Amino acid sequence: MPATFPTFAELLPPTKSAPHAGIRWTLTAAGKGLLSIEAPRKCAVYVVVEFQTAWAGRAFHFECLGGQSDKDSLKGGYDVFIGRPHETRCDCKGWAYGRGKPCRHIAAVRAIIENGWMDCPANLDADSGNTEPNELPETI
Ligand SMILES: [Zn+2]
Repeated sequence: MPATFPTFAELLPPTKSAPHAGIRWTLTAAGKGLLSIEAPRKCAVYVVVEFQTAWAGRAFHFECLGGQSDKDSLKGGYDVFIGRPHETRCDCKGWAYGRGKPCRHIAAVRAIIENGWMDCPANLDADSGNTEPNELPETI
């Protein structure tokens, strides 16, 4: 991971299954970043990419890189949609079984949006999606 990209950390709202979970987020390109969801005994890592949706809200794809307790998740990842409360949804089993309660993916994406972490900082090139660090010009 290039050191030029700042990593942000945030605690998630406590839930029954994960009362002390937190996230780390590193934006690597416009609309794309590396997310780890960390609980005391486990850490799940994802590449999160925002994609266009016709729905009124924001949609994200979670590509699972490892650490997930749900082994099925490694096959295709999850799509997470953040819209009005009754429209918010996630593909994971936790959300399906939670009867509409936010799962950790939804909580993580909400935190990323609320903190403005998905918004491209000025030092990233929004057009190219280039993840290579830019060389700083030498000063004399
Ligand atoms: Zn989920």
